Amino acid sequence: MTRELTCIVCPKGCQITVELDESKRVLSVNGHTCKRGEEYANTECTAPRRTITTTVAVAGGGVVPVKTDKTVPKELMLDCMTLINRARVDRGTPLGAVVIENILDTGANVVTTKSVK
Ligand code: SF4
Repeated sequence: MTRELTCIVCPKGCQITVELDESKRVLSVNGHTCKRGEEYANTECTAPRRTITTTVAVAGGGVVPVKTDKTVPKELMLDCMTLINRARVDRGTPLGAVVIENILDTGANVVTTKSVK
């Protein structure tokens, strides 16, 4: 089996071809132009991960942008979003504040990417 991927690690967007066996083990990776692209292709085909970027409600109205400070397993994204949607921050919360620590034991914190005025 072959998978065609666009590397999302940097803006160059290399087209990567990954060959997999029946057990979905990676046999070969081609088309990447650096080690990071090869690592991305391996991870994407075996245990895909994503950074979550979304917003959290501000008490009293409005929202503030947040993101995870590390990638989380792709299969946990919906569960993470459920928790993030329940979270609230107060006015005066600074940029980089941890809104949810170690979400779902992934090792990733949800942090603000803007201060709340
Ligand atoms: S393979 Fe390397 S150079 Fe190509 S998009 Fe991925 S990170 Fe960028």
